[in-house]
Amino acid sequence: MEFMEKFLLRFDDFKKQKTLEIKDEIFDIGSEIEVLKQSELRVSFKAVRYGEIISITGVVFGTETFECARCLKIFKKEVKIGFECSFAQEDGVFDLGDEIKQTVMLDLPMQPLCFEECRGLCHICGCNKNDKNCNCQEKLNIEFIAEKWSKIKKINSK
Ligand SMILES: [Zn+2]
Ligand SMILES: [Zn+2]
Repeated sequence: MEFMEKFLLRFDDFKKQKTLEIKDEIFDIGSEIEVLKQSELRVSFKAVRYGEIISITGVVFGTETFECARCLKIFKKEVKIGFECSFAQEDGVFDLGDEIKQTVMLDLPMQPLCFEECRGLCHICGCNKNDKNCNCQEKLNIEFIAEKWSKIKKINSK
């Protein structure tokens, strides 16, 4: 059986048995979404047939691995994302794997941060400002002021 086959649901399979419950199944999303290559996700779901509709509720959970948008550090984040969907008899087969992928993608942060107040990298010396105070910006400001003063002095001495 193909790995992702477990997430391909066939309406016909619910003819004998009305409920399907899957717990803590490994969900391989790695190669699909670049930022989630190192992530470890699992899925639990329950699919129940109500007449001609199969209704699915589930949760995808585990750790996602990101690169901080400010300091470029690799960090892990625990996630737990609920989802709900359904399909009808006329659909025949339903790719729940695709549904889960979209759920995960919609939940991805636009700007992943290793922590909310991450100070990022110094754009002058490149050091990580969470670990070190480099004062590059202050030095730059002092130079800027000094330069301004020297210009003012030049104007005044003319
Ligand atoms: Zn950071
Ligand atoms: Zn610096």
